[in-house]
Amino acid sequence: MHEFSIVASLFEKIEDLAREHKATKILEIEVEIGERSGVNQELFSRAFEEFKIGSIAKEAHLKIKEIKVTLFCQDCKEELEAKEVDYTHCPKCHQERVQIIKGNEMLLTHLEME
Ligand SMILES: [Zn+2]
Repeated sequence: MHEFSIVASLFEKIEDLAREHKATKILEIEVEIGERSGVNQELFSRAFEEFKIGSIAKEAHLKIKEIKVTLFCQDCKEELEAKEVDYTHCPKCHQERVQIIKGNEMLLTHLEME
């Protein structure tokens, strides 16, 4: 389960930020999980619940936002949301000169601390 190691590094980051800001408590954590990041939201939440026990984030509320895959088409010169699981064709002109620009990553987007 690689969600476990992802959550582990997330907690490292959270603890660093808390130290930096001299926070004693984390109230809320918001992450964005890309549709194509390979992170399972349910496993992620479960790992998070385990990790937060005894940590600075023990009372923190986890908010997960799912990020749809966004493609950039070099012909349309536009950012478009991918349809279903087709990440290799432009949803508008249907050719293949597309790049995935969003949806591959897992990001910590917001941290509320005290
Ligand atoms: Zn296109």
